[in-house]
Amino acid sequence: MTEGSKYMQDRLQQKITGIKPVKQKKKNILRRTPVKKFSEKRLEQNKVYQPISQEFRKNHPRCAIKSPDCTKHTQGVHHVEGRVGDDFLDKTKMLPSCNACNLYIETHSKWAKENGFKKPNYKSKLSKLNESSTSAN
Ligand SMILES: [Zn+2]
Repeated sequence: MTEGSKYMQDRLQQKITGIKPVKQKKKNILRRTPVKKFSEKRLEQNKVYQPISQEFRKNHPRCAIKSPDCTKHTQGVHHVEGRVGDDFLDKTKMLPSCNACNLYIETHSKWAKENGFKKPNYKSKLSKLNESSTSAN
């Protein structure tokens, strides 16, 4: 069988079934991803956060989350109450975490909440903030 007759057979098949060959859509490879704009405040926080985070990881080399996927070695910092406002820099709300556990928390929200690694809401936190507006530092 030659290439040509194979082609004709396919064409015939398409005519009979009415199924058109699927053309692959060209994807816009050069699509530009928008540049994330951080607020001035967050930029300042990031400057403060980097050394805090580094020191925290150094002082806590072992992951504290211990999810079923845990790799034991601290690779990052998990923020129990999220990275909102001053919690972002609050060491008491940080937990040393391996990347696997960080991902596990993201993908297993229920598990994280049940084990106290994720707060279900921020409302209770707001009242706490007012009580302890003067930080220990
Ligand atoms: Zn872990």
